[in-house]
Amino acid sequence: MRKLPLYKTKGIVLLTRKAKEADKNVVLYTLDYGKMEFCAKGLRKIRSRLGAGLEPFTLTEIAFWWGEQLAIIREAKIIHSYSEIKEDLYLIESASFLTRTVDRLTQQNHPDKNLFALIISSFLWLSEGPNPLIKPFFSLKLLSLLGLLPQMNQCVCCQKKKEEAKGFSLERGGLVCEAHNGDSFPASQQAIHILSRLSSLNILAAKRITIAESIFRELEETIERWLNWQLSA
Ligand SMILES: [Zn+2]
Repeated sequence: MRKLPLYKTKGIVLLTRKAKEADKNVVLYTLDYGKMEFCAKGLRKIRSRLGAGLEPFTLTEIAFWWGEQLAIIREAKIIHSYSEIKEDLYLIESASFLTRTVDRLTQQNHPDKNLFALIISSFLWLSEGPNPLIKPFFSLKLLSLLGLLPQMNQCVCCQKKKEEAKGFSLERGGLVCEAHNGDSFPASQQAIHILSRLSSLNILAAKRITIAESIFRELEETIERWLNWQLSA
């Protein structure tokens, strides 16, 4: 039998799914191929040789060959396990949100080195401990990389400055002023300010931001509505 060539790449494990028999399918966001689903043979066996290297939220170096349907993972070597995340329920929930959002919003085989770096730097931030800003920051940066950010600097209809915005319209794609807020939901000036600021900051600057609980709720809800809107589009 002809020996198939092995390929190597690095990837973050986004999620795993049960497959037939003792196999699992593993979705990784890889450096060279973007999001990609692999078959991991025998991964559900307790003594699987691939084991820890394919746990969710692990940065791993894989060797694989191209199969007929899915690529098949031969080796998985842990580069970083982010063990702090895996020991804390709040962090697990946050990391799951990150990986789920990447899985839902990205297409297979569209590599983006900046997106790969965003996932890794956000996981490192998560490893430092709980911080409610990580999810909104990550979501806005991801939307920005995918070209899906809403208009947050002016009214989408008449370009009035964001200081005059009264609401956020999903259908129109961003902030709207009083005259154009027909189908919008209300947005406070503080939330609008933080929304537009957060999307333009790098992670070091974002770490220094503190916001009031009520504004944070509003921010989170606005982003969630926008993400769901994008997914339903
Ligand atoms: Zn307007």
